[in-house]
Amino acid sequence: MLTPDTQISFLGKIGKTAAKYLKNLDILTVEDIIFYYPARYDDLSQIVPIGQLEPWTTVTVKGRIELIQNKRSLKKHTLITEAIVSDGTGKMKVAWFKQPFIGKILKNGDEIYLSGKVDQDYYGIQMVSPVYEKVMNSAPTHTGRIVPVYSLTDKLSQKQIRFLIKMSLAAVNQVEDPLPLDIKRKFNLPNLPEALREAHFPTTFERLESARRRLKFDELFLLALRNEITRLELKKNNAPVIPFREAETRAFVASLPFSLTKTQKTSAWEILKDLEQESPMNRLLDGDVGSGKTVVAAIAMLNTVLSGCQAAIMAPTEILARQHYESLTQLFSNNKVGLLTSNFSYLSAKGEINKKELLEEILVGGAEIIIGTHALIQESVKFKKLGLVVVDEQHRFGVDQRAALKKSANLEKTEASPHFLTMTATPIPRTLALSAYGDLDISVINEQPKDRLPIITRIIRAEKRNEAYNFIREEIKKGRQAFVICPLIDPSDKLGVKSVKEEYEKLQEIFPKLTIGLMHGKLKPAEKENIMDEFVANKINILVSTSVVEVGVDVPNAAVMIIEGAERFGLAQLHQFRGRIGRGSHQSYCFTVQENFSQVSTERLRAFETCRNGFLLAEKDLEFRGHGDILGTRQSGKTDFQIASFTDVEIMKQARDAAQELVGANPALLPFPLLKNKVEEFSARAHLE
Ligand code: ADP
Ligand code: MG
Repeated sequence: MLTPDTQISFLGKIGKTAAKYLKNLDILTVEDIIFYYPARYDDLSQIVPIGQLEPWTTVTVKGRIELIQNKRSLKKHTLITEAIVSDGTGKMKVAWFKQPFIGKILKNGDEIYLSGKVDQDYYGIQMVSPVYEKVMNSAPTHTGRIVPVYSLTDKLSQKQIRFLIKMSLAAVNQVEDPLPLDIKRKFNLPNLPEALREAHFPTTFERLESARRRLKFDELFLLALRNEITRLELKKNNAPVIPFREAETRAFVASLPFSLTKTQKTSAWEILKDLEQESPMNRLLDGDVGSGKTVVAAIAMLNTVLSGCQAAIMAPTEILARQHYESLTQLFSNNKVGLLTSNFSYLSAKGEINKKELLEEILVGGAEIIIGTHALIQESVKFKKLGLVVVDEQHRFGVDQRAALKKSANLEKTEASPHFLTMTATPIPRTLALSAYGDLDISVINEQPKDRLPIITRIIRAEKRNEAYNFIREEIKKGRQAFVICPLIDPSDKLGVKSVKEEYEKLQEIFPKLTIGLMHGKLKPAEKENIMDEFVANKINILVSTSVVEVGVDVPNAAVMIIEGAERFGLAQLHQFRGRIGRGSHQSYCFTVQENFSQVSTERLRAFETCRNGFLLAEKDLEFRGHGDILGTRQSGKTDFQIASFTDVEIMKQARDAAQELVGANPALLPFPLLKNKVEEFSARAHLE
C-alpha cells in the first residue's frame, strides 16, 4: 500500500526516472512530493463549444477526433501531427510539431480535451500544440480544470510531475495533521489532507484560496511557535536588576548638546523598563542611519554602570569600534571606558595599554564600559560583572555568541544572562518585525534629529554624468569628500569587482589631481580598514566602493555620493548608502545614475528621490521586490517558507496570536507531540542556515 514514506522510485516507471531529478529538490518520498506546492495555476476550467470559440482566448475544448495523421511540412520537412476535432457545434484543426508519438497515442474516434490558445488563420479556427488529454471516467488532470503548474528542472515535464502527485495524493489521508482542532476552528482552516488535495488539484478558486491560507498558516505558525519558545526560554534566565536612576539620567540627558527626539525618548524608556526586570532584555533598537541610536544605548549603559555592573558594546569592525570609543569617552568622561580589538587596547585616562593589562582591568572592574569587536567574545574575556551587552549594526547575534558572553559575564547565578540590546540601521517593516524578529521586542526610532539638513537626491541620466563630476570637483575644492558606489550583483562575480576597478581607473583619468580610493569586498579586512582610515582622515578625496561601504562608519566631511547602476539595488539598500553622507553640517547631495528606464525602475528611483524615511522605503521595497532585499539572503527565510511570504500580514498575525496562546498554556507543547516535532525540525533547519 502507498504510504507517505513510500519512495518516489516506487511510483512506477515515471517515478523511477523522476526520482533522480527530484532528489536534487530534496524530494524523496510521497510525503515530500505532496508538500511540493505548485508555483502557479492555469485556469483551463472553461470548456467552450467549438462553435463559440473566439480567436486568441485560452480555453479547453472537449471533442472527438475525426481524423489524425502525421505528415511532413513541404518546406522544411518538419514532422507535423494534424487532427480534425469536432464536438457537435463545429470542427477545428489541431496541429502539433515534431511530436510524432502523439499520432500514436491519439486515435480516430478518441474523445479528448485540448487546452491552449485559439488561433485563427485563412482556413478558420485552429489550435497549435495544445495540451491534450483523453477523456476518462475521472476528472481531467492537465486540461479542463484549474491546472497546477510546478517549477521544475527541464528534465521533468508538467505532465509527469502531475501524474506523480496525483498518485501520491492517494496517501494524503495518512498525512497527520499537526494543527490543534481549536485553532482550525477558530481561524476557519480546512483539514490538512483536504488543503493538500485542493492546493494541487483545486476544484474551485474559493477552495484553493482556503487551502493556501491553511498551508501558509502552517508555515507561519511554526515560525511563530519557534519565536515564542525562544522568547520564553530566554526569559527563564535571570538577569541583574538595573534600577532606573532618574536624577543621574536627567542630568546626563541635560548635558547633551541637543535634545532627544520623541522616539529616542520612548526607545530609551522601553529599554530602561526592561533593565529593571529580573529576566534579561532581548530587544532590537531599530533606527535609520543617523537617527541617534548610540546615545540611546548610552543612557542604558549609564544606568547599568550606576548599578555597579559593566556594559559592553560590540561593533562589527575595528573602525566602528574606535568611533564608538571616541564618542563614548566624551559622553562618559567620568567613567572608565575601555577599547578592545585584535589590534588595539585602550583605557580612558591611561591611553593605550597592553592587552593583558586591559583584560585585568576588565576582570577587576577598572573598566566599566568596554567597547570591542568580536575580540570581546573570541578571546574569552572575563568580566567582573557584565550587566548589558549592546550589539551594533548586526542583524542577528547568534545563539552561540550569546552563550559565550553569558559565560564570561561572571554573574552570580550560573543560569544568569546579561541584558541584550541589538541595534540595527536597517529599517524593518512591521510585518517583517512580527515574524522574522518575533522573538525580540522592538523599539523604533523613526525620525531624524530636527537640526539635520535633508540630503538632496537627484536621478541623473548616464549621459549627464559629467555634470555630476563637475559638481564633485567644486565640492572637493570646498574641502568636501565624495563616494562613488558601483553595483556588485553577485559577490562571487568577478565581473562585478572589475566594474569597480574600471570605475576607479576611469575616475583617476577624470580627476588626475585628486586622490581616489578603491574599496570592495575582495580586500582583506585590514586593507579595508586602512582605506576607511585614510578616507576618514581626508587623505582620500573620492572613494569608489561596492556595497561593502554599507556599515555605519561616520565621515562627516563626505557630502556627495554618486550611485551607479542604482536600479540594481533595493530601495532599503540605496537608503543605507545615502546614509553615509549628510552626517556633518554641510549640505549633502546624492545622485543616482539611471541606466534602465523600465517603468518599475523609474518608479522605484522616484520613490527614493522623494522619500527620506527608511521605514517607508523598506515597506515600498517589500512591494517592489519582496523581503529578500531587506533581510539579505541569509535571513530571507527561503528555506523556511514554501508558500507563505512576509507580505501575508493577516495570516501572520493570526499565527502569532495562536502561537502565543498555545505556548502560554503549554510551554513545552507536551499535548502536541507532532507539532513539537515539527518545531524542532524547523529550528534545526534554521540553525543550519
Ligand atoms: P546612528 O543611529 O546611525 O548610530 P549616531 O548615534 O551615530 O546615529 O548619531 C549620529 C549623530 O547624531 C551623532 O553625532 C549624535 O551625536 C547626533 N545626535 C544623536 N541624537 C541627536 C539629537 N536628538 N539631535 C541632534 N543630534 C543628535
Ligand atoms: Mg551607529
